[in-house]
Amino acid sequence: MSKIGVLALQGAFREHKRLFEMLGAETVLVKLPEHLEGIDGLVIPGGESTAIGRLLREYALVEPIRRLAVEGMPVMGTCAGMIVLAKEIVGAPEPHLALMDIRVNRNSFGRQRESFETDLDIPAIGAPAFPAVFIRAPHVESVGAGVDVLARYEDRIVACREGQFLALSFHPELTDDTRLHNYFLEMVAARQQLQP
Ligand code: GLN
Repeated sequence: MSKIGVLALQGAFREHKRLFEMLGAETVLVKLPEHLEGIDGLVIPGGESTAIGRLLREYALVEPIRRLAVEGMPVMGTCAGMIVLAKEIVGAPEPHLALMDIRVNRNSFGRQRESFETDLDIPAIGAPAFPAVFIRAPHVESVGAGVDVLARYEDRIVACREGQFLALSFHPELTDDTRLHNYFLEMVAARQQLQP
């Protein structure tokens, strides 16, 4: 069974824990570097990316997470978590974890569309369309050569994967549709099979 760390500094971490537990995975809330021990994958929830970034630095989590991730540990970021994963954030002087070769734009859907739900076509998880909840969501403006685009909303990239990293603009943890959490668990299982 996989053990999934859910970064629990700020934001919608309890909801992710609930979905992984629905799928039978063990979860651990990560607030301190020692909580990273023995995890097979990590999720960075939605919330406020500047707050999450600040707390990551304050609790000395940046380097240990980066080390595990660069060694191959799968990491999934949703909404603010996508921003935290990006190597480039439009208008910000510095990135946070800087793990994914993506350039993200915060709050990209404008004030009139602060939150909305839409059915998204995501070929990687098959039909039917996924009920995607967007809340002050970022989108990906551009991706590097190693990044696969998994979904677009209108002309904007809202889901992508780069090797062991998965970034989503929306909040799958606010629905009962477990397919994207299951997709991430498959990434984690594939990596566990490679390990001695
Ligand atoms: N716009 C927020 C940010 O910049 C993200 C919103 C969310 O995670 N729901 O962090």
